[in-house]
Amino acid sequence: MELQTQKDTTLVGQLNQLQLRDHLALIYDGNFQEWKRTVVPFMLFGLFQNEKCVYILEDETPEQIRAFCLELGVNLKAYEKTGAFVFLNKTKLYYQNNVFDLDFIVSFLIATIENALTEGYSGLRITGDMAGSDNIKYGLEKAIDYEVRMNQEIFSKYPIIALCRYNINRYDTDLIKNILKFHPYIVWENRIHENPYYIFPEEYLAEEANQEETFQLLEDISAFTQKKSSFFNKVMVLEKNYAIFEAQLGYEKLKNEFLLSLSHEFRTPLNLMFTALQLLDLQLKADEKSRRYLNILKQNNYRLIKLVNNLLDITRIKSGSYSLKMQNCDIVYLARNLTSSVEKYFKEQGKKIQFICNVERKVIAIDPLNIERIMLNLLSNAIKATQPNDLILVRVDEVESKVIMSIADTGRGIKEEKKKIIFEQFRRVEDSFVRNSEGSGLGLWIVKSLVELHSGTIDLESSYGEGSEFIITLPASKLSEEMAETIDEQETPSLLDRLGVEFSDIYDI
Ligand code: ADP
Repeated sequence: MELQTQKDTTLVGQLNQLQLRDHLALIYDGNFQEWKRTVVPFMLFGLFQNEKCVYILEDETPEQIRAFCLELGVNLKAYEKTGAFVFLNKTKLYYQNNVFDLDFIVSFLIATIENALTEGYSGLRITGDMAGSDNIKYGLEKAIDYEVRMNQEIFSKYPIIALCRYNINRYDTDLIKNILKFHPYIVWENRIHENPYYIFPEEYLAEEANQEETFQLLEDISAFTQKKSSFFNKVMVLEKNYAIFEAQLGYEKLKNEFLLSLSHEFRTPLNLMFTALQLLDLQLKADEKSRRYLNILKQNNYRLIKLVNNLLDITRIKSGSYSLKMQNCDIVYLARNLTSSVEKYFKEQGKKIQFICNVERKVIAIDPLNIERIMLNLLSNAIKATQPNDLILVRVDEVESKVIMSIADTGRGIKEEKKKIIFEQFRRVEDSFVRNSEGSGLGLWIVKSLVELHSGTIDLESSYGEGSEFIITLPASKLSEEMAETIDEQETPSLLDRLGVEFSDIYDI
């Protein structure tokens, strides 16, 4: 049966059908579109199949790869966080001490596969560009030995799948021609081709002197037909799997769109109610009882707004459409100002709040509204976790080329075993009967995501019964003038309203 006579089989469909132990070469001309169409789906299928995915970087950057994954509806960062997806610098693998060291590469790959299996993955998926002619000086003429050893020592023994990228413009044709012989599958012009010129390692090693003969063998019709029919079977399943993949992507998109529009639908009436409540507030000044009821309405209105905002933001962050408005901003001023704005809430409950910092002024690139949001979230958690006479300390310190912002409290602290899960969605660590002033368990997930969007990290130190400290580390970098975004003041809710929303769950109503 002729492969060519089969009806159209898309490249992505073929990629989906690949399995562990497949070894492919992508022969391309450095065209970005080609890379997008082939390499990115190749890696994503690995993620969906519980394989550990390692991407060896060449010309492209992690940002470009993440951005393209987002276009496909996949937030790569989430997989990077769990370690399922790893970017590796090519010098780490290919050029140990500037030498293309085959023994090192083989043992590194075997160790990586074994670790992946211990971590519970089904195998290793890897892609790397074999780099340009400038790397010949490191010994890349050994590329053929490398591919043969990969086939003999790794592919035949371990669960691995690899896509080796060869930029046709960077090699001399002879090398490409030889490389071709050592990959059972070749991706070329938007299709995966079974390679009739593939040479089994044993044949290569045994008959190196007589390659002519090896070619004759490979072109043996019966062997070739047999291979073709097994590939044909693969192609048949491909189309089915591709339809499933497309349906999955479509469903994910639909779910996000539904959540977004639902949250918007909720927000409009809530905002209208809020305005009406504010007007009522003005009219009911003298009436004590009505004022109390009005407060309950306002407070709960704020709570619903907070919940809807959080749901909207989670959906946006997950789909990659949440973007920061970065500006050069004095973070010391911002943090000091915010601390004094919230002081009254702490005083009302008999708690102390203090601001300390080791510099007068520190201008760095941040999205000020989102940094405020992070702080308000941590501060509202601190207020909920503390008792009268407890202390809350807000610190901003410059340490080497970083800014460290921490919010510490002398409150109830967090148990050791809960520390790991606290940044996950819908996680609250208390038993349900003390949940009177609890939120929805979304806050810390959003805080962590916003910190990471700033290229920062967040750590937690806590002793149960003694208190907790959330430590945020941000890069102390600045933007050039033209990179800074302007924030539309008119669209920004006032700090008072934002405080009302973020602190809406600190009272027991
Ligand atoms: P919530 O909206 O419930 O506050 P978060 O994601 O902000 O959700 O927090 C998750 C849980 O972590 C909270 O329910 C609380 O139990 C715990 N937590 C957060 N901050 C502190 C803190 N400073 N001290 C003790 N527990 C905390």
